[in-house]
Amino acid sequence: MEEKQAQTPILASPQTNGFLSIKLNSLTQVFFFKMLDKTYNPMEIERKLQKKWLEEKAYAFDIESEKPVYSIDTPPPFTSGTLHMGHLYNHVWIDIVARYKRMRGFNVYLPQGFDCHGLPTELQVEKGLGVPKEDRRVFIEECIKWTDKAIEKMRKQFDSFGYSADWSNSYRTMEDDYKKMVQKSLLEFYKKGMLYREKHPVLWCPNCGTALAKAEVGYIEKEGKLYHIDLDAEGHKLTIATTRPEMMPACVAVFVHPDDKRYEKFVGKQAKLPISGRMVPIMADAAVDMEFGTGVVYLCTFGDEQDIKWQKHYNLPVLEAIDANGRMTEIAGKYAGMTSKEARDKMVEEMTSIGVVRKVEKLVHNVTCHTERGSCKSPIELLPREQWFIKVKDHLQEIIDAARSMKWYPDYMLQRLVDWTESMDWDWIISRQRVFGTPIPFWVCDCGEVIPAQEKQLPIDPRDTVRECPKCGRQAVGEKDVCDCWVDSSITPLRISRWGSDEKFFGKTYPASLRPQGYEIIRTWTFYTIFRDLMLTGKPCFKDLLINGMVAGPDGRKMSKSLNNIIAPDEPLGKYSADALRQWAACGSLGADYPFSWEECEHSQKFLTKLWNVSRFIEMHLQDYDGSEPELRVVDRCVLDKLNHIVDDSTKNLENYVFNVPLDQIRGFVWHDLADDYLEMVKHRLYKPDVYGVESRKAVQYTLNKIMGALLRLLSPFVPHICDEIWVNLMKDGYASTSSWPEAEKAPADEAVEKAGLLAKRIVSDIRKFKSDNSMSLGAELGRLEVKLDASSIKLLEMVTEDISGTGKIKELKASIYDVDGYELSFEK
Ligand SMILES: [Zn+2]
Ligand SMILES: [Zn+2]
Repeated sequence: MEEKQAQTPILASPQTNGFLSIKLNSLTQVFFFKMLDKTYNPMEIERKLQKKWLEEKAYAFDIESEKPVYSIDTPPPFTSGTLHMGHLYNHVWIDIVARYKRMRGFNVYLPQGFDCHGLPTELQVEKGLGVPKEDRRVFIEECIKWTDKAIEKMRKQFDSFGYSADWSNSYRTMEDDYKKMVQKSLLEFYKKGMLYREKHPVLWCPNCGTALAKAEVGYIEKEGKLYHIDLDAEGHKLTIATTRPEMMPACVAVFVHPDDKRYEKFVGKQAKLPISGRMVPIMADAAVDMEFGTGVVYLCTFGDEQDIKWQKHYNLPVLEAIDANGRMTEIAGKYAGMTSKEARDKMVEEMTSIGVVRKVEKLVHNVTCHTERGSCKSPIELLPREQWFIKVKDHLQEIIDAARSMKWYPDYMLQRLVDWTESMDWDWIISRQRVFGTPIPFWVCDCGEVIPAQEKQLPIDPRDTVRECPKCGRQAVGEKDVCDCWVDSSITPLRISRWGSDEKFFGKTYPASLRPQGYEIIRTWTFYTIFRDLMLTGKPCFKDLLINGMVAGPDGRKMSKSLNNIIAPDEPLGKYSADALRQWAACGSLGADYPFSWEECEHSQKFLTKLWNVSRFIEMHLQDYDGSEPELRVVDRCVLDKLNHIVDDSTKNLENYVFNVPLDQIRGFVWHDLADDYLEMVKHRLYKPDVYGVESRKAVQYTLNKIMGALLRLLSPFVPHICDEIWVNLMKDGYASTSSWPEAEKAPADEAVEKAGLLAKRIVSDIRKFKSDNSMSLGAELGRLEVKLDASSIKLLEMVTEDISGTGKIKELKASIYDVDGYELSFEK
């Protein structure tokens, strides 16, 4: 269907106003009307509608509504100042769900918050703006100012792709109400005996100066050396193998495997360490790898996670060789103050000079590093520090049970949560040695007493304040550490449901109907949220989880600065349109990584132009439609039947959070079933009611009106801007986005109708082929067409004869019976 193919009776104006002149019997009627603009101008339309939606509060949640609630626990993006393509991908999915559910009659609650606390903000303010951390009050004020600006920019980006959030229910994790809820939840954990403070080896990043959660570290393969060092075991040489000889000052034992015949005689004896001459016990444990190095290892508190296990199991002393800045402590003697690298070189030098370094091997090994922060990646140390913990290990089965009670899309993502939970061997460390964060609401006395804040004082900042210790009367000091950002973000279902402050609101919005998020934060955000909210409310926090994959660059590789393949959402939004970029996002599949694609944006934009042009053509022909329901012809019934199937399929898919399949189907319907086939086969009926009958024209109008009504609503969750704009012009009643979801009607086509429709399509396509092979224009008249068919098909042909000759401009259409099964056309020009 192309505008230019419109035939003589149409005198369409290129302007926004058009008129249509139709010959009805002997009278010619002329209609004047306001039309959709000739050119589809997405930038203008999208900005106009986004403004209107916000002004009209079209997506505000109404707690008083009688409709069933559908609440979405959206991921609060970290306030970096810009949304990246992963955010856009995730939030377009969320928006499709929200829009679909609204149309399905739900009272959709779509609040969008922001995750404000984090190391990157502190670094921005400290290093970027040059504000020192020493004056904490000023520093925090600057962090808040910086974050406010960041949120303003991100909020605009959310609006720019048509995200239908309820901004009146937004939140920021740095605001008082939020911190109050975080602190209240910590007091509850304390009351339950689930919050404690303990000296424990933590994963410490000397570069960032903070403790890290297990989820923030990972292995990086590095080249290192394995040093073979001789110890003196009561007169015999015992050679240990280690990659970290600088940990020697913290050595508290030497281990061999109990089955290792080579070392049987050493077990129970003492070994003398070189340089210091200190004695340590030689012990046997099955966790020693006999094949690695010499089969003899030393335990340094704390070189790695195995060291922690042994230290606890054998109740060995704790020696700290490295401090929080990554430097050697005084137990290292003359090496105190050196970095571990410097100390390693110097100590190896000294040990070599006294002849105890037997061998140095090159070794590629996995080093635990601060992997979750791209700009750091430093090797981490295990340091014993006073930290705040939440007991999670006692509740692993409850977490798994809660996770299993939820529906996961795709379902295999549940296993990731289960595996992670089962691998948990430490409690959750919630304290971070930072400034801009939610303060931990406790005071600690030297006598060991912990004094909690009172609930009515919240939110509170105990830093630089003291409390009298009820136990010993001395002054207890306010906790200086702040909460890890997952402590903030793992109560989002509680925050959006107003836990503890509004029972009615909580009752209607908790548990959240949906938690949408990326798979990369299952072991953090999902895990902590399920655990924390279950402990606090006794109920699992979500019903459904919708998991998306990561967005890759256009080259299919992970987006990264070094690969120069990062595409920011503003680029395609400026080049194409929100509705085009949304289609790209909708085409991803559940849980799978998905590359950004310029081609998909291009293709999507073409579709929008096609939809616009088709709608404009239909708009013209609906001007005089009187709403009647005349008898439909075969082709009308066939196209409506196809549409019904698509409505059915789309509904089923969207119920299962599948977006790419329905979008593909609907777009295919517009391109092929509607534009290529149906519109071409009804033009003669539209333009010549004097020949084909007024009722026949009305039947087409009825069909087109039905199609557009359903189509714009089906497409609305995916491409809301263009659908609302066309709807306002064509349907003249509300918006597509605020209408109800279409329902499949009773099948208008039986088997004979379906077969006749297919036959008509086939013959029309062959007529076109004949014309094009003979260099005739598609609109050229043909003198005669003879169709040879089997007897049963002849009956079908009668049902569509008029459609075929009208479309193909055939003067005489003759049908004859083939003696055998078959099909043959012969033309006369
Ligand atoms: Zn780091
Ligand atoms: Zn005390």
